[in-house]
Amino acid sequence: MKTRIMKAVLPWLSSPDDSARSRFAPITDISSVEGIPEEALKGLVEVTDNFSFKANEYYLDLVNWEDPEDPIRRLIVPNPAELDGWGDYDASDEASNTRIQGLQHKYPETALFLVTDNCTGFCRYCFRKRLFLAQADEVTRNYSAVYTYIAEHTEIDDVILSGGDPLSMSTRRLGAILKNLAAISHVKTVRIGSKTPAYNPMRLGGDLELQKILSDFTAHSGKTLYLIAHFDHPRELTDIALEELAMYRDCGLVILNQCPILRGINDDDATLRELYNKLHAAGVAPYYAFQGRPVRGNEQYMVPITEAYRIFHNAVRDLCGLAKRARYVMSHSSGKIEILGVDEKRIYMRYHRAKDPKNRERFMIFNRDDSACWLDSLIPAQEDQTRCEYGNMGSVGQRVSRSI
Ligand code: SF4
Repeated sequence: MKTRIMKAVLPWLSSPDDSARSRFAPITDISSVEGIPEEALKGLVEVTDNFSFKANEYYLDLVNWEDPEDPIRRLIVPNPAELDGWGDYDASDEASNTRIQGLQHKYPETALFLVTDNCTGFCRYCFRKRLFLAQADEVTRNYSAVYTYIAEHTEIDDVILSGGDPLSMSTRRLGAILKNLAAISHVKTVRIGSKTPAYNPMRLGGDLELQKILSDFTAHSGKTLYLIAHFDHPRELTDIALEELAMYRDCGLVILNQCPILRGINDDDATLRELYNKLHAAGVAPYYAFQGRPVRGNEQYMVPITEAYRIFHNAVRDLCGLAKRARYVMSHSSGKIEILGVDEKRIYMRYHRAKDPKNRERFMIFNRDDSACWLDSLIPAQEDQTRCEYGNMGSVGQRVSRSI
């Protein structure tokens, strides 16, 4: 472990100038980005007045500026369509799960801790872009109230650190959070949800203190620490990003990846397959593939459910078992819903996690609608009377395996 860390870190720390380090410094002024034509910039400044821009030289270098439809460009460069007024800021009604400021508690075992309203880069399709608005006040500054809540709710054994991106925080603040969670005995797992390994794959390699904090936590807390990475496109998995992922693993973290299926970014099976194959080869298990949420300004990224289902299943069909562990799910206000199958007339779904215990494992059938992007647009099929028990979907289940 030490060999790999030192190999990666030493050239970094002993760099004779700051040019390597500056490649990861935040760029927040869209007009300073070379590659965007002058006339396009005018409209984009208005966009960034509403939804901030943040990237760095390393990530912008992944863009093919010759291609106006380049997927990395669509992911990071603002687009005037963000201001079209479409969608809801809180499409999954996270407000209804908020118990105290900065803490959501939707499922008994799991607490979602919003630790920051900052990120290493701002994804244009962000599902929590409301946190970055000037008037936002969801993220807590009073962490001790959150620790008290978690300590008093002994049913919570799993804490998700999210936001925002926990790895965009200072090492000292992140370390303090881990230290406090380490002291709560009923917490068994902590997840760090982060796109930083994609945006700044020197975050860990350039920070010996963070390496020590993570290694100490995994070695001595008695808890498992997960990195839930967020790579959307195989081009983000550069050599340095793969090296960084290996370092997180060397620090004792278990790494999974989740990403939404997004129009113009990864909405074809070859791209998604390549992403999953590269992740799998790097020892990173593909976890959730999300249906995009109908968030404000995100219509341009939406892929209808039946199309996303086809893309996902074509992508994973021929992968080895380890690489095809991902599930295609929708993070709906009522729970996490897995899209199980589509046939000529119907869409089949089941609650993977249900907010209301009455819906636990509930199996649902909807009339097929190839334009629907969200559960609320679907009409239940007449035969949706089925409430199956786990592992027993009866005759309806036979149709689930038929895909389009
Ligand atoms: S890293 Fe996550 S929270 Fe941050 S902008 Fe991207 S999707 Fe949003």
